[in-house]
Amino acid sequence: SDVLLKTQGLTKNYPVNGGLFVKSNKKVHALDKVDLTLYSREIVGVVGESGCGKSTLAKVLMRLVEPTEGTIHFEGRDITRLDKRQMRDIRRHMQIIFQDPFSSLNPRKKVLDLISEPLDIYRIGTRKERVQHVYRMLDIVGLTKNHADRYPHQFSGGQRQRISIARALVLNPKLIICDEPVSALDVSVQAQILNLLQDLQQQFGLSYLIIAHGLDVVRHISDRIVVMYLGKIVELGDCEEIFTRPKHPYTQILLSSIPGNHQESLKAPIKIAGEIPSPINPPSGCRFHTRCPYAFERCKSESPELRTDEDGHAVACFLQ
Ligand code: SF4
Ligand code: MG
Repeated sequence: SDVLLKTQGLTKNYPVNGGLFVKSNKKVHALDKVDLTLYSREIVGVVGESGCGKSTLAKVLMRLVEPTEGTIHFEGRDITRLDKRQMRDIRRHMQIIFQDPFSSLNPRKKVLDLISEPLDIYRIGTRKERVQHVYRMLDIVGLTKNHADRYPHQFSGGQRQRISIARALVLNPKLIICDEPVSALDVSVQAQILNLLQDLQQQFGLSYLIIAHGLDVVRHISDRIVVMYLGKIVELGDCEEIFTRPKHPYTQILLSSIPGNHQESLKAPIKIAGEIPSPINPPSGCRFHTRCPYAFERCKSESPELRTDEDGHAVACFLQ
């Protein structure tokens, strides 16, 4: 199937502010040489702990943050260095939804205006047509016409995320990047929003990159899973394959921490040692070696490459 989005060597370092009079050469290594391909109509889940670079990845892909190195291609076009005006054309096809639907929606705007704003910006349709289109969008995301005249604060978290989805969907994009779309919501509402996203994917032939903290969130919706650790992809593969035959020790640990998850390959839950190290000074060699139960001498000095087998299952670990 068609390649929609492709990154090569995508890297992002942020300078660390050493204070007003302190010059600092330190950098946050947020994203390190990420190679990722997303196919048309595909749902890819990106998981990892806070600080693994998944939100940076979302922002760099949208060009809300400039990459330090590497390239991004969207539908075969290199969008890495496009200027603001050129990016506007791309953003019609590539939208983003954020974690907190409250802070991402302007509280002073009515729902009607929030959802029709992208149409206004791209000058699509007459005012009347836009309003009709917004009503359709509200219906599609499970809200009603009567909601159009209200303000974001009059809605629950789940409803606000529905409004964000309608707004992302209104231009009929090909890709929606969802940055932790359900983490701010009650557990009971999370499944509803994920189901909605899945329905919309079917209905409109969308692709998603869904970023999440935990694997359980993306399990039922994703075709493929990407596991990140300290700015690097450590494992990538078919969703069921990752769940039944995880290869990277970090993925195995993430899976064993999901209550009630039974893996053929794991006898007992593995404990993860310590906190995630700072991305300012990531460990040498394999970045996971400070917490890996299987680490050996080589892991401290050499960084394992991400190797892909014939089934497209990729893993970065010397034991594989
Ligand atoms: Fe663990 Fe070494 Fe594999 Fe890294 S390369 S995951 S430290 S065994
Ligand atoms: Mg985040």
